[in-house]
Amino acid sequence: MKLHLSVLFGLLAAAVTAQSPQTTAIRAGRLIDPDTGTSSANQVILVQARKITAVGANVPIPQGADIIDLSKATVLPGLVDAHNHLALTYKEVPESNVYYLTYVLDSTALRAIQAVSNGIQMLSAGFTIVRDMGNNGNYADTALRVGIEQGWVPGPTIINSGIIIGSMGGQFSPTPEMAKDHGIIYPEYLDADTPDEIVKAVRQNMLFGAKVIKICADCKPWGYSVDDIKLVVHEAAKAGFKVEAHCQTADGARRAIDGGVWSIAHDSGMTEENHRLMAQKGVWRAGTETPISLTGHTTRERYDRTVKMLKNAHDLKVPLTFSTDADYWVPGKTRGQVAIEFIETWKAAGVPAPDILRAMTTNGYKVSETDKVRGPIKVGFAADLIAVEGNPLESIDALRRVTFVMKDGLVFKRDGVITPEMFFNPGPVNGWRIR
Ligand SMILES: [Zn+2]
Repeated sequence: MKLHLSVLFGLLAAAVTAQSPQTTAIRAGRLIDPDTGTSSANQVILVQARKITAVGANVPIPQGADIIDLSKATVLPGLVDAHNHLALTYKEVPESNVYYLTYVLDSTALRAIQAVSNGIQMLSAGFTIVRDMGNNGNYADTALRVGIEQGWVPGPTIINSGIIIGSMGGQFSPTPEMAKDHGIIYPEYLDADTPDEIVKAVRQNMLFGAKVIKICADCKPWGYSVDDIKLVVHEAAKAGFKVEAHCQTADGARRAIDGGVWSIAHDSGMTEENHRLMAQKGVWRAGTETPISLTGHTTRERYDRTVKMLKNAHDLKVPLTFSTDADYWVPGKTRGQVAIEFIETWKAAGVPAPDILRAMTTNGYKVSETDKVRGPIKVGFAADLIAVEGNPLESIDALRRVTFVMKDGLVFKRDGVITPEMFFNPGPVNGWRIR
């Protein structure tokens, strides 16, 4: 075979490239380790093939590396929202913020598209992981997760719950026509009243791409018993999955704790006694502490209790996650900016900035169970990181202005501007089989 010299050189160059993938070197003026609440000056982070390959002050930068200069910024790992609903956006017009109507008005397909947009907005605000806890129509959350994993669109790593499992009606009060014919507002909840139905509902969610199981512990006065909850936990554990319980009463939260759930959503069921048990058993608290500054989404009375109980949880060393439940449109704010606004409640509760940051990072990776592969800026971990001006260990408000975002080694935002071109591909880049 006759081979032209330029082709040969081309092949050789390709071979060399294949052996040593392009290196990106990030110069960080300050690098934060949220786990210890400390920072180091003038660090270099090397990234190759989507992973962090070196971190340190004296790391040599290989020749030909792409250099990203963040020497005037603070670099830290990505943030986690441990409770959101990206495929739901309720709003003042047309539904007066009644999300019951949103479910009727918006198809699952439209909601999947909303989810992509909301995911991009979360990523731009620095959230590289989102636990998406249901209310996503007919598995728009799985579509979002798979779309991001296959490389169709940029977005945070999604840990999704599929359809929320509850006793008949879930959080809704459907009419008999709705509930029995399932013609409207279903499949927003999976009705599961008997042990057989509970097992089947858990299996359905796992089959259709959930990564965590979400139940309504007490959405109805009868709710789930401790035995019901134990059954959910047992069935989910067969696939290595954890269970989050939506709890709105102290009794419901107590049953969820006794039933062995991994995390409890919302703070209305939080009491000092429940906090003590959660601290003792290591149950994650996803309190979804709505700030008073998001007008119309909490009341002064409710907010004051929320602040008091967050302080109580922090004092009692309950494992805390940063969680928002921010599933609505606030005019003038992106979904990510709405989520960041929740730091106001944490500040009001007197939680020190390093502890807020730990809840938003280290604890977020643990509750999402990504902490062995994604989150910390360490060798071998996925290259997810963000940069801000100022020092969030001193003022958590520094997180309001995320100027740089890298996700899986690809630059998503630079100098405060979204630059997602590398994320868009004419086909899936990570394989068809991910689901
Ligand atoms: Zn929620």
